[in-house]
Amino acid sequence: MVKNIAVIKGDGIGPEIVTQAQLVLDKVGEKFGHKFNYTDVLMGGCAIDATGVPLPQETVDVCLKSDSVLLGAVGGPKWDTLPGKLRPEAGLLGIRGALKLFANIRPAKLFPSLASACPLKEEITNAGLDLVIVRELIGGAYFGKRDTYVDENGIKTAYDTMAYSDFEIERIARVAFEMARKRRSKVHSVDKANVLDSSRLWREVVHKVKEEYPDVEYYDILVDNCAMQLVRNPGQFDVMVTENLFGDILSDEASMITGSLGMIPSASLGEGTLGLYEPIHGSAPDIAGQNKANPIATILSAAMMLRYSFDMAKEADAIENAVNAVLDEGFRTGDIMSDGKKLVSCTEMGALIVEKI
Ligand code: NAD
Repeated sequence: MVKNIAVIKGDGIGPEIVTQAQLVLDKVGEKFGHKFNYTDVLMGGCAIDATGVPLPQETVDVCLKSDSVLLGAVGGPKWDTLPGKLRPEAGLLGIRGALKLFANIRPAKLFPSLASACPLKEEITNAGLDLVIVRELIGGAYFGKRDTYVDENGIKTAYDTMAYSDFEIERIARVAFEMARKRRSKVHSVDKANVLDSSRLWREVVHKVKEEYPDVEYYDILVDNCAMQLVRNPGQFDVMVTENLFGDILSDEASMITGSLGMIPSASLGEGTLGLYEPIHGSAPDIAGQNKANPIATILSAAMMLRYSFDMAKEADAIENAVNAVLDEGFRTGDIMSDGKKLVSCTEMGALIVEKI
């Protein structure tokens, strides 16, 4: 198969980690008989320097014409003082909107060889930790009507509204049920239906969708209980689906319990197969250009691209198994280093993973 990938290397460690992911993809292509064509486009600080804006129209056009998008990270101190709309991070929101990516998929998995980096007790993680959070990405409180005003009595007030329409809930629920079918067939829908109207509609719509998936085990869970269960018994979760704000908070909690920022990939998906794949960490300006970055989160993001955009499950498995094997042999970048392990650079880690494939 031939696939065209738009590549946004971005700023800081972005170019270093994306290059390693491309080498891994090339190796997968060689082994399984695929060809991946790359088109480099600008976004973030490097785009501001070159064109004056964080998301040039050309970048959007190339991404829309591609089969998928691989992104490193954007931002850095050089651009921190620019006004909001001109900051590198505005490019991130802009590209998600332009590509109509409404579902954010974030796995949280504990690699057995990194278990010591997990802040939870061994008796809790013994049951395993391998879950995916499906977060609605372009609705809810972050996009609802909001205002700050001073009333006639001089009282200053601010409000944000969390609004959801049935079709927005239905499409994200479907993503979760489909994903569950490819995993352990279990969905937890997270809401606050005991208090919020938007959550009551959420529950009503998700219940309708679940009728189409009788083979998938299903649970409603309140968000406060869910936050607690994530640290009490994370092994009970397979796929969790929730709205934007709850998902933002729960996905950070879930990543924390897996140990390292440098290990966690993510995908943002829309209606079709076009997706945006990126590590959850930022551009790490403190280690940029030093060949110290951990490329694994980006490499695992490339594996997600193969699985979700290109329907190449065995190719994705090959990458994930290679990462496991390299970790099992004790190789570590600085961020996941511990006593008795072998410290490697970003390029060495990439080469080791390529070799295992
Ligand atoms: P960060 O994730 O870049 O870094 C936090 C810490 O983790 C740093 O010490 C860094 O060295 C380390 N780290 C992160 N990724 C690593 C990796 N792959 N390997 C080894 N160590 C790694 O977060 P920050 O410092 O808060 O933000 C830095 C810049 O990144 C800011 O400009 C921020 O706005 C931007 N940012 C971008 C994204 C994105 O592009 N999606 C996400 C978050 C932050």
